[in-house]
Amino acid sequence: MSLMEQIYKEVIVERSRRPKRRGAVDPRTHEQEGLNPSCGDELNLTLRVAGDRIEAAAFEGQGCAISQASADLMAEALEGRTLEEARALHAAFRAMLRGEPPAAELGDLQALQGVAKLHARVKCATLPWTTFEGAMQGRSGPIDVDVEPEAELPS
Ligand code: ZN
Repeated sequence: MSLMEQIYKEVIVERSRRPKRRGAVDPRTHEQEGLNPSCGDELNLTLRVAGDRIEAAAFEGQGCAISQASADLMAEALEGRTLEEARALHAAFRAMLRGEPPAAELGDLQALQGVAKLHARVKCATLPWTTFEGAMQGRSGPIDVDVEPEAELPS
């Protein structure tokens, strides 16, 4: 394992154990549940959006370290961004997980780049982002990524 891979692994373990954005945003404007039954990952994402800016994001849930770390890193990355910036970040994150060069700065989200080699776990990493897109679409009911693996992708 390279030094960067080791650092990234430590970020994932640390974030899954001691998440910074675990909880629920109150008051909130958006809420969405996301499920990845094949791994047992569950998330409930809450957001406060004012105009076109995401003021706050947090999640509750349970599941594997990748899903929980990804949700925590995403919630942190979304805060303060415009919806357009958030969608660009999502697209860049998806590109990274396909092994393609991302078109936007990913910052700490790069810690998940090793997941690109673990095909069975990609849905664990993308679950929070799919859940975010569902929240912005104002869906009713949970998103199940086993049923809708490519739900609500940014164009
Ligand atoms: Zn998982």
